Amino acid sequence: MDQSILKRAQDKDIVEIKIHDLRDYSSNKQRSVDDYAFGGGAGMVLMIEPIDNCINHLKYQREYDEIIYMSPDGELLNQGMANAMSLQQNLIILCGHYKGVDERVRANLITREISIGDFVLSGGELPAAVLTDAIIRLIPGVLNDESSALSDSFQDKLIAPPVYTRPADYNGMKVPDLLLSGHEKKIEEWRYEQSLIRTKERRPDLLNE
Ligand code: SAH
Repeated sequence: MDQSILKRAQDKDIVEIKIHDLRDYSSNKQRSVDDYAFGGGAGMVLMIEPIDNCINHLKYQREYDEIIYMSPDGELLNQGMANAMSLQQNLIILCGHYKGVDERVRANLITREISIGDFVLSGGELPAAVLTDAIIRLIPGVLNDESSALSDSFQDKLIAPPVYTRPADYNGMKVPDLLLSGHEKKIEEWRYEQSLIRTKERRPDLLNE
């Protein structure tokens, strides 16, 4: 396989990804960014001050469409959200850690909260990478064959049809004949049919939306 799609998009100057260390925005000598929770209980909480400093610093340089906090109790990420965000210019994505962030960050500094699923990870870095990948591959010029993003699962509320490549016969496991026929229109119809069958089987909920 060739270089990662995200790396290529950055090399082509289609996107810029900057990572900011909250410790650079801490005002104390130890550069700490977290503290114990008021009221007690296990686990550390990210403090508001470094986050506020960092966001202000970034906002001073350019305008942002959204300031997103990755959080398991946020809006559940889906393809429609990725499509919409791929049209935006500048996004800040805040990653939590430990027990999360001081609630005043969420109430006052954040414009949107996004979850990547009903499970809890130890930090927001992987969720942020998931969101970033989902968005960036949709920006025109990032994928070599742009139409390939449009035929992905969920793009039209359907699951993608099965795909095959050479050899046409592998130890008796055969590729459907039609795909070898060169009959474009019939192949397109077959793919649509397969998409419908798959969606009914695997994700009937998508058809009811
Ligand atoms: N105590 C929090 C979980 C904190 S997990 C709670 O129960 O909701 C630590 C950090 O990981 C979170 O602040 C968030 O930024 C990130 N994170 C964990 N799971 C996530 C998910 N499913 N989606 C998005 N972010 C997640």
